[in-house]
Amino acid sequence: MEIRPFIDHLEAKVLRGAQGSREDVLRLLALTPDSDDVQYLGQAARRVAAVAAHNTGRVWSAIGLDCRPCPKNCTFCSFGAKWGLVREEKELSAGEVIAIARRLVREGAAWVTLRTTEYYGFDRVCKMARQIRDAVPGDYGLVVNTGQMGEEEVAAMQAAGIGVVYHSLRLGEGKCTCFSPQERLVTLRAVSASPLRLAHLVEPVGPEHTDEELAHVFMTALENGASLSGVMARVNVPGTPGASSAELPEARLAQIAAITRLCGGLRVPDICVHPVSRQAVAWGANVVVVEEGAVPRNETFCADVWRGFDVPQAQALFREAGYTLHGEQTAG
Ligand code: SF4
Repeated sequence: MEIRPFIDHLEAKVLRGAQGSREDVLRLLALTPDSDDVQYLGQAARRVAAVAAHNTGRVWSAIGLDCRPCPKNCTFCSFGAKWGLVREEKELSAGEVIAIARRLVREGAAWVTLRTTEYYGFDRVCKMARQIRDAVPGDYGLVVNTGQMGEEEVAAMQAAGIGVVYHSLRLGEGKCTCFSPQERLVTLRAVSASPLRLAHLVEPVGPEHTDEELAHVFMTALENGASLSGVMARVNVPGTPGASSAELPEARLAQIAAITRLCGGLRVPDICVHPVSRQAVAWGANVVVVEEGAVPRNETFCADVWRGFDVPQAQALFREAGYTLHGEQTAG
């Protein structure tokens, strides 16, 4: 089948409730990012977003609670002890976290993510989640992005009012990280088997990743029932091993976002792109990220939002692309 009828067919199929197959993903990844065919794909993805996400743009906010020199030394992370960028431990106090969360929710964030290193302590994350729930009213989901976990930890998170877990099988897992793919899968399966929602991006993407690698990570997200997916490009932080690597071109980032939207179908209502990309939002990504505090994509602790990108800017971007905003009433 020619590529455009193939995209039409896939759009109709996913709107009936199916998801794209690995072969579908691979065929779309093989297209040239700045081609007319990818434009066609992006337009189809945007139509699927209107249905799957109820045409709603949502801001994923993330607060990095702590940073410390981390002996795991993932090559893309500024906290790796070997890179010497983070020399001492730093943690936000509960009062600081609550103040940030309150502001983000007031501005319209749909999720508040508590992101920690592997060493923060699971009980402390759950305690912080309860404190936020008590202190910050509003229509938002609480997310945790922390270390590996099993059934016991998943149950404790539910009890603490956490609704979503961010966890992903990373590109280059076991080579760029010191975790084995198997360890990741144990956590993914524990979340998948629970009432918690799973958020799993394809990340951290560089231009060197093959179509097969990208498809494998995305299919892992789908197989584990992710309700939020999408794509995050690797940010080449000065001082980390990736500093001199090539950056992922925005056209490729937007193409991957469109593919995750189209192939995720109705079962993946939220598709995220990070760092923000106007093209990806126009092609069906309805979630962008605002983050502050400890950010593994930055050399230093962020006292303000990362790269100056805040909730009002995210909302303006969504409006420009024709989305309704989280929390807004829709007519009819
Ligand atoms: S990604 Fe996590 S485990 Fe890896 S170096 Fe950074 S903080 Fe450590």
